[in-house]
Amino acid sequence: MERLRPPRAELADLVAYDAKDVRAEINLSANENPRNLPGEVLEKLADRVRFDIPFNRYPDPLATRLRELIAQANGLDAANVLVGNGGDEIILDIILAWGGPGRKLVDMPPTFAMYEIDARVTGTRVVEVPRNAEFEVDGEALMAAVADQDPDIVVISNPNNPTGTMTAETLLIELLNATDALVLVDEAYFEFSRQTMRPHMERHPNLAILRTFSKAFSLAGLRAGYLLAHADVVRELTKVRQPYSVNRFTQVAASLAFRERMVFEAGVRETMRNRDRLVHGLAEMSEVAVFPSEANFVLFRVEQAAAIWRDLLHDHSILVRDLSRTPGLEDCLRVTVGTEEEVDRFLQAMDEILARKHASRHFGVNATANRHLEQDR
Ligand code: PMP
Repeated sequence: MERLRPPRAELADLVAYDAKDVRAEINLSANENPRNLPGEVLEKLADRVRFDIPFNRYPDPLATRLRELIAQANGLDAANVLVGNGGDEIILDIILAWGGPGRKLVDMPPTFAMYEIDARVTGTRVVEVPRNAEFEVDGEALMAAVADQDPDIVVISNPNNPTGTMTAETLLIELLNATDALVLVDEAYFEFSRQTMRPHMERHPNLAILRTFSKAFSLAGLRAGYLLAHADVVRELTKVRQPYSVNRFTQVAASLAFRERMVFEAGVRETMRNRDRLVHGLAEMSEVAVFPSEANFVLFRVEQAAAIWRDLLHDHSILVRDLSRTPGLEDCLRVTVGTEEEVDRFLQAMDEILARKHASRHFGVNATANRHLEQDR
């Protein structure tokens, strides 16, 4: 038969997550760490590869060694930790287990797109509680949605990607007190915000905290993330997860990075310094409105954002994230905090682009005026 049966109808109007795999000299689009693994970690990793990783064997399904390290550092038992193929896999596992047809997830857009995508893929209903103009969670609307809709999952990115906004701990506690839904606090940018809901786990068995090795730990290319949660939550997730999703190499690299985590501290501090320079630099541009950020990226609003995105890429080989078509983020771009040099080059490029736009606008006005003159003649 020369035909293909269509997949589930729910996929028809779903758009794939667009990671924008565009080549650029400076990639500030995916909130990665601009630095590769520190040399000392790379060397240890190379030794392990040479001498003791049996690549012919399936990996430990639960990444026991890494799980124990993470548990110990967080004052928990290994049973409270789940390691996944990036935080992305764990988000899907949670929605597979707590979502599904007939169940509901509360989402607070604009936020990380995967929550909604995974909800739709699994037939989970999405209840949207939009953030306000400053991208803060609307506490009243959130509590009303929890009371009226009785959701099964509430997910909150904290700090929020792509806005950089933190949600007050008091509101999160109020939320945890009001619902038995699984509350996923996504702390993918925890190492930059240095704020965590970890102290509230004992009192709230429905609190789950997501972290990742993709940002502060320079391991986006290997895919490793972890969840801190009640042992019952972890146990349920092991029923839906892919058993061998975290490969041996990743388990070894993530364990080394985690054990040596103090080595990454200098990079985190450098990122925070560069974030301040980036925010100040953007704030000096009169055409730009920059939003405060607690993460390793900065969101800003500028007229003709999509054109500026193109100019950054084509004229300066700098890739940032164009969010201008996302509802609530009209005219917004998100830029990852790069190295000092990358931040300088980005700010300089923005200056040049805005100056050119400014000049051509004046030129444009004159040109129009001249045309009128010509027509008058
Ligand atoms: N949560 C948030 C808020 C993120 O921004 C990201 C990465 N962009 C993730 C989770 C997933 O990260 P990873 O799969 O690389 O661990």
